Amino acid sequence: MIGAACALYAARAGLDVTVVDRGPVAGGTTGGGEGNLLVSDKAPGPELDLALLSGRLWGELAEEFGTFVEYEAKGGVVVASSPGSLAALERFAAEQRGAGVVAEPVGGDALYELEPHLAPGLPGAVHYPQDSQVMPALAAAHLLRASGARLLTGRTVTGVPRTAAGAVRGVRTDQGDIHAPAVINAAGTWGSDLAALAGAFLPVLPRRGFVLVTEPLPRMVRHKVYAADYVADVASDSAALQTSPVVEGTAAGPVLIGASRERVGFDRTFSLPVVRALAAGATRLFPFLSDIRALRAYLGFRPYLPDHLPAIGPDPRVPGLYHACGHEGAGIGLATGTGHLIAQALTAKTPDLNLTPFRPDRFTEEAA
Ligand SMILES: Cc1cc2nc3c(=O)[nH]c(=O)nc-3n(C[C@H](O)[C@H](O)[C@H](O)COP(=O)(O)OP(=O)(O)OC[C@H]3O[C@@H](n4cnc5c(N)ncnc54)[C@H](O)[C@@H]3O)c2cc1C
Repeated sequence: MIGAACALYAARAGLDVTVVDRGPVAGGTTGGGEGNLLVSDKAPGPELDLALLSGRLWGELAEEFGTFVEYEAKGGVVVASSPGSLAALERFAAEQRGAGVVAEPVGGDALYELEPHLAPGLPGAVHYPQDSQVMPALAAAHLLRASGARLLTGRTVTGVPRTAAGAVRGVRTDQGDIHAPAVINAAGTWGSDLAALAGAFLPVLPRRGFVLVTEPLPRMVRHKVYAADYVADVASDSAALQTSPVVEGTAAGPVLIGASRERVGFDRTFSLPVVRALAAGATRLFPFLSDIRALRAYLGFRPYLPDHLPAIGPDPRVPGLYHACGHEGAGIGLATGTGHLIAQALTAKTPDLNLTPFRPDRFTEEAA
C-alpha cells in the first residue's frame, strides 16, 4: 500500500517510477490486515497530523476510485466499558478536538441509535465521523494502476549499488539492475533488511495481528466499533500479547474482528488462545455475535518501529535513499499522506508536514 501511494504521488509529480516487489501486489502486510483509515486512535502529535493529512487525501482519491477501492466514510465509535474509562475517553477526545479531530461524545439512546446491536447498559462512547475505510488490496492495486508506474512483481531486491561518493545508483534485483537516482524503501516489515542492503540501520520489527472473519451477515455493525482500551494497546511497547475488541461490518457481509498485538517474530502459527480472546471481546461488545459462526482467521505482521512512528523521508546517511516504512497498524490509513510527502521530498518541495519526527536516522544501533 505504501509503495503504491508513493508511486501514485511521485508519478503525478512528474517522475518516472518503477515499482519492484518480490511478491504479488498486496502480498505483504497490506493483504494481511484491515483497511481502517483512523484518526480516532491517535493522540495529538505527528502521527495524528499525518492521519489528518492522509484522510483529506483519501477523501480526494475516493472521488476518483471510491467504489473500486470500497471507500466508505462510515465513522468510528469508541466505546467505554465503565464510567472511569468514559471519563478518560472524553479527556482524550477533548485533546484530539484541539488538534482538529471531530469527536462527538454520545451516550444513552444516541449511542444505540448509532449502533443498535451493542451490548445494553454501556456508559457511553465517542463518535468519530472522520474515520473511514478502504479495501487494502484493491486500493493498492488501483493506486498502482492509476500511477502508470512500471510494475515489476516477482522480483527481489538483493542490493542497493552506490557510487564512490556513497549515493544510490538504483537497485540490484535477482533479475538484473535497475538504474535510478532515487530509491524508496517501502518494504514494510522488511524495511530493516532493505535499509541494511543500502548500508543504513532502521529497526523495523514485526508485530503480529490476527483477524477473525464471520459468515456474511446483513449490516448489523454500522461503524468501526472498538473498546476504549484499544488505544492503550496500540501505544504499548510490550512484546506480550494484547487484545482489545475491534469490530466492523463490511460491504461484502462478513464482520471482521480484531485486534491482537504481539511480538513473536514472523511466526505464522495459528493461535487458538488469541483468536478465542478476540471472539470473547467482540461478543462482549456485540452479544448477537455469539450465535454467529466464524469462518476463518488470518494474520499479518505490522511493521513496528520502537517509537511507533513511521520512517518517512530522505536518509541523510545515504544520498538518494528515501524511506517510507514502519507504519505499524496504520499503514493503509497513512499511505496517502506518506506518498504525498515522499513526492514532495523527491521534487525538493517544502513538505506539508515537518518530517523531523519521521527521520529515518533517529535510531542508533547501540540503543536497539
Ligand atoms: C491484523 C492487522 C490489521 C491491520 N489493520 C489495519 C487497519 O485497519 N488500518 C491500517 O491503516 N492499517 C492496518 N494494518 C497495518 C497495515 O496493514 C500496514 O501498516 C500496511 O499494510 C503496511 O504497508 P506496506 O506497504 O508498508 O507493507 P507491505 O504491504 O508489507 O509491503 C511491503 C512490500 O515489500 C515487499 N518486499 C520486501 N522485501 C523486498 C525485497 N527485498 N525485494 C522486493 N520486494 C520486497 C514485500 O513483498 C511487500 O509486498 C493492519 C495490520 C495487521 C497485521
